[in-house]
Amino acid sequence: MLRCQQRERSTAAPRSPGDIVATDSGELHDVCIVGAGPAGLNAALILGRCRRDVVVIDSGKPRNGASRALHGFLSRDGTPPLELRALGRAELEPYPSVQLRQNTAVVAARRGENRFDLTLADGSTVAARILLLATGRIDLVPEKPGFREYYGLGVFHCPYCDGWEHRDETLVAYSSGETGHDLALDLRVWSRDVVLCTDGPSGLTPAQLRKLALNGVRVIEAPVVGARGGTGGVIASIVFEGHPELSCGAIFFSSDCLQKSPLAEELGCDLDDTGSVRCTGHAATQVPGLYVAGNVRGGVHLAIVAAAEGAEAGMAINNALHEADLK
Ligand SMILES: Cc1cc2nc3c(=O)[nH]c(=O)nc-3n(C[C@H](O)[C@H](O)[C@H](O)COP(=O)(O)OP(=O)(O)OC[C@H]3O[C@@H](n4cnc5c(N)ncnc54)[C@H](O)[C@@H]3O)c2cc1C
Repeated sequence: MLRCQQRERSTAAPRSPGDIVATDSGELHDVCIVGAGPAGLNAALILGRCRRDVVVIDSGKPRNGASRALHGFLSRDGTPPLELRALGRAELEPYPSVQLRQNTAVVAARRGENRFDLTLADGSTVAARILLLATGRIDLVPEKPGFREYYGLGVFHCPYCDGWEHRDETLVAYSSGETGHDLALDLRVWSRDVVLCTDGPSGLTPAQLRKLALNGVRVIEAPVVGARGGTGGVIASIVFEGHPELSCGAIFFSSDCLQKSPLAEELGCDLDDTGSVRCTGHAATQVPGLYVAGNVRGGVHLAIVAAAEGAEAGMAINNALHEADLK
């Protein structure tokens, strides 16, 4: 039988999914979750079902905010990303011990003895026994005219997310060297018409060039000027300097993705060489009481995996609190 020692807010006024609570009462919550994407929302759902006193804080900047539709998420394939979040928030409503603060950021966090003290952008503070960071990542979109404008519309970074919608079209792989080589070959899954645009010297070895040619991938080394849009807000072509414009259905690029929030690093988390927070098992970090879920971690950066990691974190956190509270 689960022993719940925290106070539940069953007497609180009914909340709606968009509720914003301006100030905190100064109490020590069980858990504070920073980030209400798939990872943070699923963690809140598990923890709400465990009757934990949870505060979720979200600044409203999803990684896939530029995208029109989320793909590869069982039962929600094709759903607009913001709609998925709204559904997730609505599912938290029946759990009175979970409260949501939207459109404000955690700007500072300090770890004390068995607690974390957080400061929010609106000046309020929140304290919790456990902190879960589900703050996501940010993608570095190439600084070329049209790339940012059409990001999520015809310029993408993940063929698993958006390749199917552009199958059999002319696909551009925008990158160079080994990364470009690998990206171009990956895109062959979705189209036979793949062009690797290296925006300058390709940096490819003769063996890599041979493999690309054997697999029907053309290589254009001419400097890229930018992406040109067509009708209906989609990409029409990629434009070069000193080379004819190339009509295409989509441009896929490869770039680094950075932590959206510095909180993990500031609190002493260990980051690997891809900038991902290392876990010591089941979402725990080497910082006592600090957990991470979703794209903050490494591995597969799909939304459904982020949600699953949120569930994993929720269970691990509940177990840790339960163990600590057992007499
Ligand atoms: C263009 C594009 C298209 C994509 N398409 C797909 C797809 O089709 N299918 C798929 O599975 N995946 C897709 N992805 C990947 C998907 O977006 C991520 O896997 C998913 O969003 C990760 O969820 P998360 O909860 O870890 O982070 P996020 O969804 O990014 O949520 C993190 C949240 O934390 C908040 N936050 C950050 N710092 C703070 C702070 N200090 N204080 C308060 N809040 C904070 C942010 O505002 C954000 O709301 C796509 C990504 C991009 C860029």
